[in-house]
Amino acid sequence: MASRNGKAGKQAVADDEVKQKPERALKAKEVDKFRRILEIRLNQAQVVLAKSLPGTIASDPGDMASQETDLTQLVHDQQCARQEVRRISAALQNMKTGEYGECKACGEQIPRSRLSAEPTTLLCLECKKAQEAEQQKRGVSIGYLRHVVEI
Ligand SMILES: [Zn+2]
Repeated sequence: MASRNGKAGKQAVADDEVKQKPERALKAKEVDKFRRILEIRLNQAQVVLAKSLPGTIASDPGDMASQETDLTQLVHDQQCARQEVRRISAALQNMKTGEYGECKACGEQIPRSRLSAEPTTLLCLECKKAQEAEQQKRGVSIGYLRHVVEI
């Protein structure tokens, strides 16, 4: 065991850290698990972004209407997908720098349950709530963001 490597005095410090941070830092294996999930989601988002509607314009008014609906849907899906790609890229970047799983605002370890629900999250729940409250105050619509953030 590497942690048993000498200095018995270290133990007290470690205990204090555990009290302050009930959630331990992610192990490499756990980060790998999240990375795989994110890579799958990244592929899915890229498939959506690669989609395009047929170039021909329908002549029948009914077809035109449904084509417009399809286009609106696709534009919306691709907006979400672009947002998704940005979030995933940021998370993957954090994995590279070893910051993955730490709250960007307060630096605390984000609970595993939260990361499992949304592996791209960069904030712990408290900071996320604070951010949302702030956005609401500034009148930013979070309905759209929520749609993207929550699966
Ligand atoms: Zn936080």
